[in-house]
Amino acid sequence: MTLDTSRYRATPSIGLASFDTREPSLFPDGKKAGKKLTKELNARLELLQEQLYAQGSHRLLIVLQATDTGGKDGTIRRVFEGVNPQGVDVASFKRPTPEELAHDYLWRVHKHVPGDGRIMIFNRSHYEDVLVVRVHGLVPEERWSKRYEHIRNFEQMLVDEGTTILKFFLHISKDEQRERLQARLDNPDKHWKFSLGDLDERKLWDQYQAAFETMINETSTPDAPWYVVPADRKWYRDLVISSTVIRTLESLGVDWPEAEEDLEGVTVQ
Ligand code: AMP
Ligand code: MG
Repeated sequence: MTLDTSRYRATPSIGLASFDTREPSLFPDGKKAGKKLTKELNARLELLQEQLYAQGSHRLLIVLQATDTGGKDGTIRRVFEGVNPQGVDVASFKRPTPEELAHDYLWRVHKHVPGDGRIMIFNRSHYEDVLVVRVHGLVPEERWSKRYEHIRNFEQMLVDEGTTILKFFLHISKDEQRERLQARLDNPDKHWKFSLGDLDERKLWDQYQAAFETMINETSTPDAPWYVVPADRKWYRDLVISSTVIRTLESLGVDWPEAEEDLEGVTVQ
């Protein structure tokens, strides 16, 4: 069973505030049932990935964006648990290197898009160039404001050339972020994930939310939609994303391919 996640699909002019960060009371015993279902979906996704690879005719690009502590790493770990590590690639986009900065902002991104039969996950993406770049004014507004159109066109080109694109915004509340940052501070094993700069970024919460909202409104298209995922509860977040990925692969007709040669009556001596 997969969840119908169509209500999380963003249509133009959404207000982020109108999207919940918490799960609805769908499951009688919430977390337990949700985690059990995610395990079943892991097995389904493992099979679909193998079939996708065997068919070699579809490419799937998954984009993850969120505020700090939004759960991008956890999503990758949980949703793709059990999937053959050879079948999925992850590209993490950090602060650009001097070489990357010496090029246009899509230069470092394009070379990581998936090829036939592959799933690529972008952990952050070209969207940082209208998020952190906008909030911190790293380039002038007249430059970043043109990027929404570039991005729509870039993604449409990928779709027209055979790539399927799913974009997930992991939507957490400001309170949830406080708890997650505090948990990192309280646990020495998590200190590596914490930097004092995270507290400065948190002060810019409203500016980031505004930038996320514009990003979604400007770039959620029929062919490359954003899903606004309620992400305060990790198990529900995983369920929404697993379900969306599985439904998408099923709708593409991912299945075992026919043998290319006639194997009727062939035996191994
Ligand atoms: P983390 O995901 O915690 O390892 O942090 C990666 C950092 O790289 C974040 O602070 C991002 O905002 C930053 N980053 C990613 N892409 C860009 C970009 N295009 N320009 C500036 N900073 C970026
Ligand atoms: Mg960080």
